[in-house]
Amino acid sequence: MAFLGTPTKTAEIINRYHFTFRKKFGQNFLVDANMLDKIIASAQLTKDDCVLEIGPGIGTMTQYLAEQAGHVVVVEIDTDLIPILEDTLSDYDNVNIINNDILKVDLNALVEEYNQGRPIKVVANLPYYITTPIIMGLLEKHVPVESITIMVQKEVAERMQVGPGTKDYGALSLAVQYYARPEVVVTVPPECFMPRPNVASAVIRLSLYQTPPVVANHPAKMFQIIRASFNQRRKTLANGLSNDPSLFLNREQVTKALNNMGLSETIRGEALTLEQFARLSDLLFTVE
Ligand code: SAM
Repeated sequence: MAFLGTPTKTAEIINRYHFTFRKKFGQNFLVDANMLDKIIASAQLTKDDCVLEIGPGIGTMTQYLAEQAGHVVVVEIDTDLIPILEDTLSDYDNVNIINNDILKVDLNALVEEYNQGRPIKVVANLPYYITTPIIMGLLEKHVPVESITIMVQKEVAERMQVGPGTKDYGALSLAVQYYARPEVVVTVPPECFMPRPNVASAVIRLSLYQTPPVVANHPAKMFQIIRASFNQRRKTLANGLSNDPSLFLNREQVTKALNNMGLSETIRGEALTLEQFARLSDLLFTVE
């Protein structure tokens, strides 16, 4: 099967199969060979790797992955794309096609089945409507993953990289930076896709840490605090945390912890670093 990463080739496949793009599935297919080369190079694949591709579309990037990695597992929600993938990937015996919603797949079980539980690499041009749940799912469910190389909205890539004091800083920034080292590889203009999206995109690579860069005695509690802080962004931390019914904290406890850390009672969550959130959660929650 010929290489698909051009507008002409992609249009040919679309027409041959009478495929209709579904906006609700975030279908914007890559049609730029240069960009595909850059993404694949940044994923740093070897024949020892097992790759998970989320949303393969018509299999354009999958062909590159199958050439470079030992094994590729793709998960595609759109049933209409399955016969197309079976055709475009028919030359490769190292690809498994799964027709399912990625958010319903037990990824720990998938890694066990296809890579005996050893860390996989995730490479994807993500459907933008579910970028955050996909990333949070991979990180928070502790799926064995070595790196995640993904195309996302440019603005989301920025959110993953920023620190305190910026408007984009939030729960996603902190979760990503606790689990991984983020690095934007390249920004991608709408012309690289068919159909063209309304927003600019970026490829970001997350290299997962073996040990997190900060120590929190109870990471789940720390993330509960982080979520509560950013749910009530305009409130002070003392108000936000003591108002959150899931935390069972009173204002006095929060104020005392903040004082202990040398922080003002009127500080907002968006001013705290990851390290400070870890310390705050250790002060507020004694570990059982
Ligand atoms: N990888 C292809 C490419 O780069 O040309 C397609 C990328 S397109 C941005 C996103 C793909 O994800 C589409 O094929 C879409 O059908 C698929 N998709 C959308 N929601 C999904 C979900 N919940 N689970 C699995 N795949 C999904």
